[in-house]
Amino acid sequence: MTKKRLAILGSTGSIGTQALSVVVEQNEHFEVEVLTAHSNADLLIEQALLHQPNAVVIGDERHYEKVFEALDAHFIKVYAGDEALSQVVQMDSVDVVLTALVGYAGLIPTLAAIDAGKNIALANKETLVVAGELVTQRAKAKGVNIYPVDSEHSAIFQCLAGEFHNPIEKIVLTASGGPFRGMNRTALANVTKAQALKHPNWDMGAKITIDSASMMNKGLEVIEAKWLFGLKPEQIEVIVHPQSIVHSLVQFEDGSMKAQLGLPDMKLPIQYALAYPDRLQNTFERFNFMDYPNLTFEQPDLQTFRNLQLAYDALNKGGNIPCVLNAANEIVVEAFLNDKIGFLQMSDVLADTLQKCTFVKQPSLEDYIASDAEARRLATDKI
Ligand code: NAD
Ligand code: MG
Repeated sequence: MTKKRLAILGSTGSIGTQALSVVVEQNEHFEVEVLTAHSNADLLIEQALLHQPNAVVIGDERHYEKVFEALDAHFIKVYAGDEALSQVVQMDSVDVVLTALVGYAGLIPTLAAIDAGKNIALANKETLVVAGELVTQRAKAKGVNIYPVDSEHSAIFQCLAGEFHNPIEKIVLTASGGPFRGMNRTALANVTKAQALKHPNWDMGAKITIDSASMMNKGLEVIEAKWLFGLKPEQIEVIVHPQSIVHSLVQFEDGSMKAQLGLPDMKLPIQYALAYPDRLQNTFERFNFMDYPNLTFEQPDLQTFRNLQLAYDALNKGGNIPCVLNAANEIVVEAFLNDKIGFLQMSDVLADTLQKCTFVKQPSLEDYIASDAEARRLATDKI
């Protein structure tokens, strides 16, 4: 295997930092060409000094001076602003783009990378929620592969190895259920953001941690799975599995089910996406059955956790509606994190936005951009 040269968008986040620890362990397989961060200039500088990329981007232009002064003497190019993201992913020296940035901000740079023919290791699920049809069509036209990083989708992708010609009957996405599993709506009305930010099994960025507590994360993953694996909504099931050991399952047309198991550690799916089709030896902790003698499964509670139902509804409606759902969700999660609304009100604002937004059946990129803006306005007004 020749060394793969990586652009890591969002290198200072949870996925970004874990990806860099994979790079350190697998330094004969990977090298870093580009690192980007939104506002954490100090960590970006530290990472750049260690990994010596060709270029870095700091999203928030107010930090440009600081990053430039720290890295210019080391011959590392420094850029700032959103547009720079779309330029650095197109550099000739980049082989794979890992999209580890959070939210809608991933869409435009991911499209730019696809247009330049770069393979994508996709952590940023929001890109496929917002514009899955457009993104997967462009990737197909360009002969670009999208390798899933999300643990459930990586599990399914791993189960499909050697089976790509066999039709899928259905897939089953596992969900931990988050910190509020089993609670009723009365109890949920009073949960705090500190409680919501404490995920039982995974240590992740704030947005996805709130999404996990509200089950929106699983809703976004249902939509992500549709586009990654070309499925109909009714072929995608969700089952709650509190131990997060079975990462997801595929059922083929003969009824046989394959699952992928392991400890909850994102470094494995990150490494698999970057090294595909190879499996690299590593030092990650190994799973022991005796530590988990009981693996359990439950039906998700769609009445209490309305967001998962809202996501299925959005997927069934199609067009720009998943984009609207994503935009409104980004607004409500931020409002919840800023103590502006309670936990249950997040679903209320989402439902209201979905009802009021303009429907576009076959959106262009411009339509998605307009829908995102409209949904943010509607949700903000409601809050
Ligand atoms: P995070 O908040 O820890 O990190 C986000 C990164 O994106 C940071 O480097 C930040 O600087 C950058 N960023 C934030 N806003 C930006 C903007 N507007 N423009 C450009 N860059 C921006 O998030 P995370 O938990 O690492 O999640 C990243 C993505 O991976 C999300 O889409 C998430 O759903 C997905 N994901 C994460 C995990 C996990 O375990 N953390 C698991 C599965 C999928
Ligand atoms: Mg996941």
